[in-house]
Amino acid sequence: MTTEQLLQWDRTHLWHPYTSTIDPLPVYPVARAEGARIVLEDGTTLIDGMSSWWSAIHGYNHPVLNEAIRRQTAEMSHVMFGGLTHRPAVELGRLLVDEVLPSGIDRLFYADSGSVSVEVALKMALQYQISRGEKGRTKFATIRSGYHGDTWHAMSVCDPVTGMHGLFGTALPIQFFVPQPSVAFDGEWDEACLAPMRDLLETHGGEIAAIIIEPIVQGAGGMYFYHPEYLNGLRALADRHGVLLIFDEIATGFGRTGKLLATYHTAITPDIICLGKALTGGYMTLSVTATTKAIADTICSGEAGCFMHGPTFMANPLACAVAHASVSLLLSQPWQERVRSIETRLREALTPLGGHPAVAKERCLGAIGVLEMREPVDMKRLIPLFVKEGVWIRPFGRLVYVMPPFGIISDDELDALLRGLTNVIEHYPTND
Ligand code: PMP
Repeated sequence: MTTEQLLQWDRTHLWHPYTSTIDPLPVYPVARAEGARIVLEDGTTLIDGMSSWWSAIHGYNHPVLNEAIRRQTAEMSHVMFGGLTHRPAVELGRLLVDEVLPSGIDRLFYADSGSVSVEVALKMALQYQISRGEKGRTKFATIRSGYHGDTWHAMSVCDPVTGMHGLFGTALPIQFFVPQPSVAFDGEWDEACLAPMRDLLETHGGEIAAIIIEPIVQGAGGMYFYHPEYLNGLRALADRHGVLLIFDEIATGFGRTGKLLATYHTAITPDIICLGKALTGGYMTLSVTATTKAIADTICSGEAGCFMHGPTFMANPLACAVAHASVSLLLSQPWQERVRSIETRLREALTPLGGHPAVAKERCLGAIGVLEMREPVDMKRLIPLFVKEGVWIRPFGRLVYVMPPFGIISDDELDALLRGLTNVIEHYPTND
């Protein structure tokens, strides 16, 4: 098959994320990827600014991660987790409990993807409330501009506008939404941010099983960084009203925000944590939903006698093995220093762009740099300009952002990525 034939077949038959089959955006054919570089079929090399949507923190084709998969493949690629267990699942679990998760969050449920991990978290909260005799608590509360995945209940707690709830009508469960906290990560904290959630819980607390939220960073819903005090306040409100607190760390986990988990920007521990994406270094799909012994025991002492979920590929050994290798590799490196220095470099590059008339504002946190444009960007026009600059940056909506593979990208590659971004934005058309 020539590259042209490949693209033609792809265009005719394959759905890409959020893409029309009638008029799909062009896609670039990748031949291979190595370190922080993606190589296209025509030999063009792009410096990766996306980490394949938060996941490839160590870049691509990493010898340590490759070896972990090779070694595990020689033993077994998969066995069912019902009635069987294996070293990759146990060793990964132990590493997460001992080194990654907050103390007390030590009951783990493995599943296939981030969205499924969110479904599992919501089900855990519901079963927990049912087991406590709180059968009326069937709803969830969250903040606007959130994103938690594309499956049914995960979708119901995504922002109602950007999640396009209207499109699905009453088929989608109706949840409670309050405004996102208006105080940004480094702003001056204002208790008034908590008032809408306080009011909601005072009026509807008895119907709510849990609050679900992306801690600190709202990702696909707007790339917004909010103040950690908001989460400390939510903890107190949740406790007062018998509501569980779920942190969706699928995007923020494993160092991206400058802390191992975004939870560690706060003084509190949630009841349930969802992990995914960078868990396997972006090699395979795997997620973990983690909770406390007390919650797990309450669920299992209820009517069902167990947690009602069991995916076919639960704790897939290949995924667990590569996740263990990825988390160990991260922890063996001075990743905090690296993320801090990337943050400084992002700030130096993005701050001047914040003054461009087409840019509404810029913000950086950890290894995430965001330009919020005044108008939605024309992806069809912008992406080829980035590719021409030799960088892979994929904007959406009004957001042009970079989150490079911080575990592998060199200073020179980072400079080239930011030069490419700057060159494109400096020539960005304005309405003036
Ligand atoms: N939660 C958050 C915060 C996410 O960013 C995502 C993915 N973008 C998901 C859940 C869903 O994960 P997945 O795409 O692996 O189902």
